[in-house]
Amino acid sequence: MDLPVDEWKSYVFQKWSLLPKSIQVTISTAETLSDIFLHSSLLLQPEDEMFLQNLSRGYLVEKDPNAPLFYREEGNKKFQQKDYMGATVLYSKMCLKDIMRAQMHGYPERLQPKMMLRKAECLVTLGRRQEASQTISDLESSFSAKPTLAAAQFQILQTNLCRLKMKAQEKESLTETFPAALTKALEDMDLKGENGQVPSASSSVSLRTDPLRGRYLVATKDILPGELLVKEDAFVSVLHPGEMPPLRHLESKWDTRVTNGDLYCHRCLDHTLATVPCDGCSYAKYCSHDCMQQAWDLYHSVECSLGGLLLTLGVFCHIALRSTLVARFEDASKVIRKLCSEIRNRDTCSPERETLVQTLTCDLGGESENKGKMLEPPVPGCDLNGKYESNYNAVFHLLPHTGNHSPEHRFLCALSVSALCRRLEAAGCYKPAAAVPPGSGSELDVWGVAMLKHVLQLQCNAQAITTIQHTGSKENSVTNSRQVRLATGIFPVISLLNHSCSPNTSVSFISNVATVRASQQIGKGQEILHCYGPHQSRMRAAERQQKLRSQYFFDCSCAACQNEKHSAATGPRWEAFCCRSCGALMQGDDVLICGSTSCMESVSRDHLISRLQDLQQQVGMARKLLRNDKPERAIQLLLGCQRDAQSFLSGEHSLVGEMEDDLAQAYAALGDWQKSATHLQKSLQVVEVRHGPSSVEMGHELFKLAQLFFNGFAIPEALNTIQKAEKVLMVHYGPWNDEIQELQKMKSCLLDLPPIPAGPSVQGPNVFFQ
Ligand SMILES: [Zn+2]
Ligand SMILES: [Zn+2]
Ligand SMILES: [Zn+2]
Ligand SMILES: [Zn+2]
Repeated sequence: MDLPVDEWKSYVFQKWSLLPKSIQVTISTAETLSDIFLHSSLLLQPEDEMFLQNLSRGYLVEKDPNAPLFYREEGNKKFQQKDYMGATVLYSKMCLKDIMRAQMHGYPERLQPKMMLRKAECLVTLGRRQEASQTISDLESSFSAKPTLAAAQFQILQTNLCRLKMKAQEKESLTETFPAALTKALEDMDLKGENGQVPSASSSVSLRTDPLRGRYLVATKDILPGELLVKEDAFVSVLHPGEMPPLRHLESKWDTRVTNGDLYCHRCLDHTLATVPCDGCSYAKYCSHDCMQQAWDLYHSVECSLGGLLLTLGVFCHIALRSTLVARFEDASKVIRKLCSEIRNRDTCSPERETLVQTLTCDLGGESENKGKMLEPPVPGCDLNGKYESNYNAVFHLLPHTGNHSPEHRFLCALSVSALCRRLEAAGCYKPAAAVPPGSGSELDVWGVAMLKHVLQLQCNAQAITTIQHTGSKENSVTNSRQVRLATGIFPVISLLNHSCSPNTSVSFISNVATVRASQQIGKGQEILHCYGPHQSRMRAAERQQKLRSQYFFDCSCAACQNEKHSAATGPRWEAFCCRSCGALMQGDDVLICGSTSCMESVSRDHLISRLQDLQQQVGMARKLLRNDKPERAIQLLLGCQRDAQSFLSGEHSLVGEMEDDLAQAYAALGDWQKSATHLQKSLQVVEVRHGPSSVEMGHELFKLAQLFFNGFAIPEALNTIQKAEKVLMVHYGPWNDEIQELQKMKSCLLDLPPIPAGPSVQGPNVFFQ
């Protein structure tokens, strides 16, 4: 998804392998990014562009005049099934203008208001007040003045609108208006420019640089867990298309599946059900007309016609293009213009040119080359006053590690960017300057070089923007949550943080704003560290090292990696096997021997692995039963699995914890809150061993447990667990997290309850989870 699609990748790699050796050498040994780009660009043939164009056509990005009719029918089906969410999304896949367009293709006009009304009704039912009123006002403005509408029809429309508005008002008191809450959340987190050097960071940190660590942030005073350290808007972010195979893999002409693109704003990443689609394409949808306009002015006017190509070339190319488009509006666009004049005046030598050449080449020789130049500000990416801001200048100075990428990879990136440049030129997005002397690089080439630099930078500097998605069936009032990747963005300040496999911070997102909080106490003078992905609770040291070396080009020597080097061969406890006779942990590599000195048990690892795989398969079947509303059978199967697990897995094995979690889900589905809570508490113990007592994973488990106690009316336990969950989640997310808000609602509900009459209560206050 980040890189181009496989077909294009293998096409380019084949092209590379067939190049004459001498050309391969020229490109491999090219010293500057502009040389790599210009040499590769010359090799891009019309047939290559044709191949790419055919791939791009596989994506459904153009407006189809027949689509509204189709989506209306599919939406109606969902509406009848009371799947209001699905119906809204399908109704939203078209906008009023689409419907107007469809009219010319025989779309019955009398059905238009009906469909829009249904969409508004769905939104009201779902409690999406803001989006509902937006849809209602769209309806009013578009149809009230329509002379073609018969009087009787007009009246029906008006009556329905009134009814809907009343319904919306009734709901209003129950639901919080989302954008208002969001605005407040973001205001509450303001850093108020207290850090003069790095305005997106708090005054508790300061920017340093040294030859070993490069640029990094350090604590200037003692920091407490939960303290906000960085709050930064993405310089640019690109929404992930989600699992959306191109058209040729689909039987149906239109996709009725709900993807990220249907649920989140293309520009600000806000969650929204009533998206406003772009007039020109079918893949960009926004939360509001404002967002659509802003995106159009900043970048979408160029991107709109390139949808299929950008999906084919991958997210990194898309971010590279968008970064340069956004930069046009910044002072830092001078960087690009300066570069341009530099390439044009290849033969003239000026101090300015020196700096610029350096900016483009600095990475080939490593960072050290960058030092000692008088024209460079003290820390790369800072302005002349030493201020490091989240702007294009900072983005431009992120390291592309050009020399570390393989020649094939550089060729792939360069050729992809060249193809993008040709399309930009063909689409009239770029107009060549009048007086470019022949033989010298054009402004378009400079644009290409800048984009190539961004694509290469992104491998080490792209930040995944994640969100917590809640899963769980309608009947099951305990929601599971999982972290999903929503978008990829560039955050120049967060990019300053070095990696640790056991970091002292936690990153979370609201829309496309990232916040970094201390996840533990950080002493004055300590470095602020962030995990690039390979976390000690998710991967073993060897796996982490391999990942960090191949993607980020360094060997990790963080505390966790140091400790693991010296620790015994048992591996982490959540992967450990235990002895079938005495229950002690097994040790060793290919043959495992019981860790207890008085026991002689031994077994081959292969045998244990195959037992583990069988067990995983069984658990998978149980989950399927659970999803298909067969909790009793799931419980039977899971209890059998548990007995099996006891004979060879450690009690803290992650699969043992997952089974407890599944059992908790199954009992919750049956309404047996007590049994459910007992199992969830056991799962909690495993999560604690693996991720630590104040980890975000622990927070999510505690949240689930709080829901269970709440549903089961176990008031003291519920209040106690709510408090624990709040404490943990607050450290990672701050007060405006959805789960914390939910916990607070639960708490106030419990505290407001009248004294409970004696006798068991059958119905818990389930209202919150429906
Ligand atoms: Zn938006
Ligand atoms: Zn568009
Ligand atoms: Zn490490
Ligand atoms: Zn033993």
